[in-house]
Amino acid sequence: MSTPSSIIRIRGLHKRFGDLHVLRGIDLDVAPGERIAILGSSGSGKSTLLRCLNFMEMPSAGEIEILGRTVGRPTGAQAGGERVMQYSEAELCAVRRSVGMVFQQFNLFPHMTVVQNVMEGLRTVKGEARDAAHAKAMRELDKVGLADKAHVYPGRLSGGQQQRVAIARALAMEPQVLLFDEPTSSLDPELVGEVLSVIRDLGSEGRTMLLVTHELGFAYHFASRVVFVADGVFHEEGPPEAVLKHPQRERTQRFLERFT
Ligand code: ADP
Ligand code: MG
Repeated sequence: MSTPSSIIRIRGLHKRFGDLHVLRGIDLDVAPGERIAILGSSGSGKSTLLRCLNFMEMPSAGEIEILGRTVGRPTGAQAGGERVMQYSEAELCAVRRSVGMVFQQFNLFPHMTVVQNVMEGLRTVKGEARDAAHAKAMRELDKVGLADKAHVYPGRLSGGQQQRVAIARALAMEPQVLLFDEPTSSLDPELVGEVLSVIRDLGSEGRTMLLVTHELGFAYHFASRVVFVADGVFHEEGPPEAVLKHPQRERTQRFLERFT
């Protein structure tokens, strides 16, 4: 199979929670190696968007293509003018393997050591043998500078270290794209840098990443593209210089002013 030109392609994505219409028609093409920073006010739907991309939330309507393959089949129904899809468990498992996610709250298993946390998905999802999973986990921990903490429980680590373990855990699954949902928002300020530094290194390796963040300085240097979410759509998007330094729309300007 030839390499698809887009890692992710979204058309007309809608997400409703009951009467709450959170995503109102998102279109997005993510090319291999792109680093997209997603900005927006609290409650604007940034997490919901990422969660739809790895199907922790089911889209209400619209099409998502991952690595050139449409996820789901049309039901024939329409919502908001967009096709309503249905999904099989098997294909959702495949998607979740190729789309890795790192959360604000780390979500490590407290009763497992660091290396067990990183091995877990390899064992249960990929069915890898213990030795192979252990070796791979140690390699990923080494990359984030935490090989020496392999046998410690997460509760003994700083927030920054826990988040680096969570990144190693995501990387161990060898995803094609990585989603970061405010990975530094719950960290003390002095621990933010070590996590951003790991994310920056992943960018230099040419990995495809979507990052929800309020670290505008980091987004400016890191992202190949910035999108600003408001009212359930991409209100403004473009190169970091354009969106962050010369926003065209008033709403974007007002949002950015809060950070100065
Ligand atoms: P953001 O990440 O931009 O802060 P979210 O995507 O978390 O925003 O949430 C967008 C809106 O959707 C919010 O109003 C939130 O309360 C609502 N929401 C998110 N998840 C759920 C859910 N599982 N059930 C009901 N409402 C939800
Ligand atoms: Mg969020």
